[in-house]
Amino acid sequence: MPDLPRFAEVEAPATWRTIDFISDLHLQPAEPGTFEAWRRYMGKTPADAVFILGDLFEVWVGDDAAAAPGFAAECAQVLHSTARRAAVYFMPGNRDFLVGRGFLDSCGTTLLADPAVLQFDGRRWLLTHGDALCLADSEYMGFRSQVRNPAWQQEFLAKPLENRQAIARALRQQSQDRKRSGSDYPDVDGSAALAWLDAARAQTLVHGHTHRPADHLLGARGWRAVLSDWDAGAEPPRQQVLRLTSAGLQRIDL
Ligand code: MN
Repeated sequence: MPDLPRFAEVEAPATWRTIDFISDLHLQPAEPGTFEAWRRYMGKTPADAVFILGDLFEVWVGDDAAAAPGFAAECAQVLHSTARRAAVYFMPGNRDFLVGRGFLDSCGTTLLADPAVLQFDGRRWLLTHGDALCLADSEYMGFRSQVRNPAWQQEFLAKPLENRQAIARALRQQSQDRKRSGSDYPDVDGSAALAWLDAARAQTLVHGHTHRPADHLLGARGWRAVLSDWDAGAEPPRQQVLRLTSAGLQRIDL
């Protein structure tokens, strides 16, 4: 079992009544329907806070890509207008871990460390993207520790934008080849998830990444609520929000 991480803490202000969790939208110019669904949702959600738990973007090669007019700038606009009336938290996923504070600041959104504990309504909710708990994927875990290293990131971000985009395309191709080869993606490790919950003194873990929306009982007292990915082009479309109120968690299909 790997070492336990440090758990960031977020205390919900007493005025919050409704909190939304979304993840794995994998926004990209090639899928305008999903972007539109997200834009509509962000424009009308009644939530006091929207927590984006990773992989909002299919790929992110540096904040400079959002400086010019284009898809990333349109996404920034959506974040910014939502952030004017609700709190917006951004937790990086395995696709968009290079989103920087500069970009988030410009959108009025707050960077959320992975993992983090949200204190709301007298309870502690443990939030993570989920990739760090997929322990059986040893190949990916090696890649993850490489790309989450600040020195690697600094070196990567210093490359010209075209080079970074080419590297991202190559990585994406590898991942698609792997999917096509039919190899199984490992799921979150149950005992590691339980160890995290115990260390965080929380009962419910909320995560995405696996694209396997479900609620799992963990041991005698823990729960794991898995977020859905988004795909407006799927039949039926997948556009699901996990909404937290004092009544608990509820799945809302848009
Ligand atoms: Mn992911």
